Amino acid sequence: MDFIPVINPARFSEVVGQVPACSEADVDRALSQAQAAFKTWSRTTPEERASHLRAAARDLRNSQPELVRLFVRENGKPRREAQIDIDRSIELMEIVAGDLPEWSKPELIDKNQPVWARRRARGITTVISPWNSPVLLSFKRFLPAIAAGNAAVVKPASYCPLTLLQCIDIINGHLPAGVLRGVTGSGAVVGEKLASDERVRTIAFTGSTETGRRIMELASRTVKKVFLELGGNDPAIVLGDARLGDEAVARMTHAILRASGQVCIAIKRIYVHDSRLNELVEKLAQSFDRVIVGDGLAPETTMGPLNNKAQFQFVTGLIDKCRRKGLTVMTKGRKLSPADWNEGFFVLPSIVLGANEDDDLVRCEQFGPVIPIIPFANENDAIARANSTPYGLRASVWTEDRHNAEAIADQLEAGAVFLNNHGIFRDLHIEFPGIKQSGFSRESRAAALDHYADTYGFAE
Ligand code: NAD
Repeated sequence: MDFIPVINPARFSEVVGQVPACSEADVDRALSQAQAAFKTWSRTTPEERASHLRAAARDLRNSQPELVRLFVRENGKPRREAQIDIDRSIELMEIVAGDLPEWSKPELIDKNQPVWARRRARGITTVISPWNSPVLLSFKRFLPAIAAGNAAVVKPASYCPLTLLQCIDIINGHLPAGVLRGVTGSGAVVGEKLASDERVRTIAFTGSTETGRRIMELASRTVKKVFLELGGNDPAIVLGDARLGDEAVARMTHAILRASGQVCIAIKRIYVHDSRLNELVEKLAQSFDRVIVGDGLAPETTMGPLNNKAQFQFVTGLIDKCRRKGLTVMTKGRKLSPADWNEGFFVLPSIVLGANEDDDLVRCEQFGPVIPIIPFANENDAIARANSTPYGLRASVWTEDRHNAEAIADQLEAGAVFLNNHGIFRDLHIEFPGIKQSGFSRESRAAALDHYADTYGFAE
């Protein structure tokens, strides 16, 4: 069997591990095992399944420091950010286990006849996940799936599979064999087989819009239920009356540079009222200048490397294009270790001025620490430009006028709009799906569990 090496993006000489490049036959075997496991797992009670999940969550918590360290080494993000991903993944297990018994109860929907809505598991779910946040984004999909009584086969992205596989191993200490499996390998072989095989009833995909389209096409052949969370190109609109104090600028910086900008819901374009352009650029530049770029395991590091060579070449290529076109590229921040700079996929944060919607930096999802700032003269123009991409994950409005922010939010094509902030709901239970070509799937609490179940009627 061939193996795929996993390289530390902060030091190329370090091979963090390797995973099998599975063949179609390997996937076939995993699916047969999952199908066999489903028969008994789906007959267990919700209370039994919840207790398995709680026990697994306790074990994961005990292994948390090693998991965080491994995650930093294969992904690159700073330890503090990696820790949040792992903590939230474990927290989610407890939430799903807590919701399960109540969610599983039949619901009386017509007292007269009477008619009951009952839920049952669908069969095999496959989860295909991206490299930028593989643990949390996989947990969000496979936990409700197995909790609802399905078997799950998870395909991590090849750049960053190790922590997720280690989590799956730990969870498997508490599950019957075959209920939850990781299969590694390329999207073209393993991903396509999972998206095509008739035994897979549900597919939960998180990744680029391009791959999402392909998954939908393959899944349509056997009419699978599809869950899609895809790419984004989130705009932030800064109005003339925005308060650009230290806190607001820190929030904005975080929303742009967290995980080196490799976040689906990062701010990827800023539209600022003419009257505030200079002030915003100056304050954001000062804030970017405090960023220390280095190995995520070093305590001083506030921003890690990009995760892989393809992403590094794409982002640095976008910056080069801006320079060649004569746009202003302001490069900020500090190298933690200048001597080792070329040993990792490190990129300093930059601000680009003079770009517009024709430039790749604005049109495409850059997924890197470079942000275009674009001035506007009137709000309608800003809204039209914000809506000018095929994406619709999140957006933000920065203003002191709450009423106007709501009016603008009504017109922004995004799954969620934030006021004077961008991106994350504090409460892990709250989630809104993307719109347009960013996907369409609801993943909070009961809605997540519902996705992995069939509801059938029982009438007396
Ligand atoms: P990607 O689409 O290249 O890959 C995602 C996964 O799909 C990987 O596991 C890959 O191996 C697999 N894959 C690739 N080709 C396939 C095929 N033909 N059939 C089946 N599977 C295939 O995405 P990526 O580069 O890993 O991740 C970055 C993208 O993910 C960005 O666009 C980002 O915005 C998006 N993303 C979205 C969300 C969200 O919740 N909306 C969250 C994180 C990332």
